[in-house]
Amino acid sequence: MNAKLFVISAPSGSGKTTLCNKLLKDDLGLERSVSMTTREPRPGEKDGRDYHFVSKRYFRSAIKKNGFLEYEENFGHLYGTPKKFIEERLKKGASVLLSIDVKGAMKVQRQYPGNNVLIFILPPSLSALKKRLKLRRSEDKSAISKRLKLARKEIAYKTKYDFTVTNDRLDTAYKRLKKIILSELKRKAE
Ligand code: ADP
Ligand code: 5GP
Repeated sequence: MNAKLFVISAPSGSGKTTLCNKLLKDDLGLERSVSMTTREPRPGEKDGRDYHFVSKRYFRSAIKKNGFLEYEENFGHLYGTPKKFIEERLKKGASVLLSIDVKGAMKVQRQYPGNNVLIFILPPSLSALKKRLKLRRSEDKSAISKRLKLARKEIAYKTKYDFTVTNDRLDTAYKRLKKIILSELKRKAE
């Protein structure tokens, strides 16, 4: 199998969505895995593009039908990677971009050993992360403090990733990320 799964994780607010959207716009031949979630859409998020926004009941029935490659609960909401999409793309030889948390990434790594590339996006510091979460205005004070607490635990996973990219200046981080992906895509053809 030649196609690869590019799995990107980062503490919430690090800029992972911003970087992934840039990658998808850049037409590198990557297809996005659209996760299912029970959380509410943020302003500007579109159903089917950013997430499949579903009810808890719907999510639970998808679990029963074995519809997820992996799923996790974060901040009281469920998030899962639809299995069918990944299997179909890999069969067609297409590479997929997954933007999921550290626990989900470890599961994908176990299920698809050999054809995954794990990339961890780091914020320049925890104080910068706090500032970004505040500026995004999508979470209240208590939700921000939960995300910061979890960020410390997530950062401990970075050693399990193939690459880390610090998102200090967006354009520099993006260049590094793109370089990693292009070189890994090229490697598959060799
Ligand atoms: P995540 O998906 O990791 O939760 P987002 O992509 O939503 O993070 O980014 C969080 C906030 O930080 C957004 O408001 C985004 O515009 C901003 N942001 C992203 N990258 C940078 C950067 N390099 N410098 C400053 N702000 C950034
Ligand atoms: P957010 O609510 O900020 O979009 O996402 C919260 C966390 O859930 C982030 O760490 C994000 O990467 C993660 N996440 C999003 N989709 C999935 C998924 O399908 N599976 C897992 N395991 N985590 C996900």
